[in-house]
Amino acid sequence: MKVLIVGGGGREHALAWKCAQSPRVSEVIVAPGNAGTHAEPRVRNAAVSVGDIPGLVELASREHVELTIVGPEAPLVAGVVDAFSAAGLACFGPQRQAARLEGSKAFSKGFLRRHGIPSAAYRIFTRHDYDRVWLRAQRMPIVVKASGLASGKGVVIADSVEAADAAAREMLGGRFGEAGAEIVVEEFLQGEEASFIVMADGEHIVPLASSQDHKRLDEGDSGPNTGGMGAYSPAPVVTPAVHQRVMREVIEPTIRGLAADGTPYTGFLYAGLMIDAEGAAKVLEFNCRLGDPETQPILARLRSDLTELCQAALARRLDAIAPQWDPRAALGVVLAAAGYPDSVCLGDVIEGLAAAARRPGKLFHAGTRCEQDRVVTSGGRVLCAVGLGESVGAAQTQAYELIEPVHFRGMQLRRDIGCRAIARELLGREPLTRWVSNGEYSKRMFVNAVRRGRTAGGGR
Ligand code: AMP
Repeated sequence: MKVLIVGGGGREHALAWKCAQSPRVSEVIVAPGNAGTHAEPRVRNAAVSVGDIPGLVELASREHVELTIVGPEAPLVAGVVDAFSAAGLACFGPQRQAARLEGSKAFSKGFLRRHGIPSAAYRIFTRHDYDRVWLRAQRMPIVVKASGLASGKGVVIADSVEAADAAAREMLGGRFGEAGAEIVVEEFLQGEEASFIVMADGEHIVPLASSQDHKRLDEGDSGPNTGGMGAYSPAPVVTPAVHQRVMREVIEPTIRGLAADGTPYTGFLYAGLMIDAEGAAKVLEFNCRLGDPETQPILARLRSDLTELCQAALARRLDAIAPQWDPRAALGVVLAAAGYPDSVCLGDVIEGLAAAARRPGKLFHAGTRCEQDRVVTSGGRVLCAVGLGESVGAAQTQAYELIEPVHFRGMQLRRDIGCRAIARELLGREPLTRWVSNGEYSKRMFVNAVRRGRTAGGGR
């Protein structure tokens, strides 16, 4: 059968690569894809943009596509699954009403409150009822969020009332257009973040392997927020006890609640969580799709056929299937363009791709395109190098070795992806739990721990 992947980033390269491995699949079409999907065996790009929903429906019909998987949130929130369903086409993802969980943070907070699912305390404001007096009475830091889709840029963690007020006014004043017409102002949560991603069929739930990403641009989790500079799976913070608790307190009530509200959820559901020192999780956000870059290490570990899983979900038979995972860890390091995340330089030639392809691991493309016989940068996050290993530390070593030959002008990367998990592997859970509960993430302690592991030789 033919499979269509909608999107053109690193997540979609990983989805296409994974689907192309299935013996059931004759060809994978990616719309619009990137230079990585262009070069992938049994994969072909089609020049249809993710925003062109009629064009995507037409492409799937014309090519007799039997399964479509949607990568990014914008077409889901705009109703791509509804359009495919109306045309009698199988498309894995939530319908527009269910995708509001990501499309509107105001909706999502109301949903969480209504269904008693743990999340930060909050208030919602529009331009007409914004209340600076209330803001002044709150504890700092506080978090200000544009309610709508803002490409991951609509969240400000403000240390002072002035900074929070400025962010709120900017958003309400139109900085993100309609996405900022409503804002959520919420309590700042402490702990360790983890991504919890499941597949749902409206009723049944299959959790994917746990993962964790690094959102900040700079080492030691400092600097501006980005779409993600790296990720790894499994995430040791998601212990079996935390996993059970998240399923029971967050995921199950969410899927049940959506069904009860008349908007059953089929698709990947991503819960961004803050986990405290006691292992209690609160929802930071929902995404109605897979995370990027978490998808790359997660799919590197998936042994089952992804197309079978998606088709089982579309048939409401996820209760009859259990995905198999590679027990090894996987870790992905993002190579970002100069200027990312602000003003990104595009069009720089990427060297060393052929040499990297001969090394162990997998180099997924994100913001890349072919220009004559060269590959050039075409987005903020350019590549994601994924390594596998017996531990997160070993996977990290392979990922960094994979990118050694790769270079482009102004290339940015973090050298400490996975540091928390590696520290846990080196030190056990206790010390980290204590540091997290103190609210102190001490870069020096982690760096020293990792160094100790290196000099101890192979302990990682
Ligand atoms: P979001 O898009 O809502 O997940 O926010 C992006 C990032 O901002 C999250 O991954 C967290 O690092 C941070 N963040 C969001 N909400 C909060 C919160 N209530 N407390 C602490 N950090 C937060």
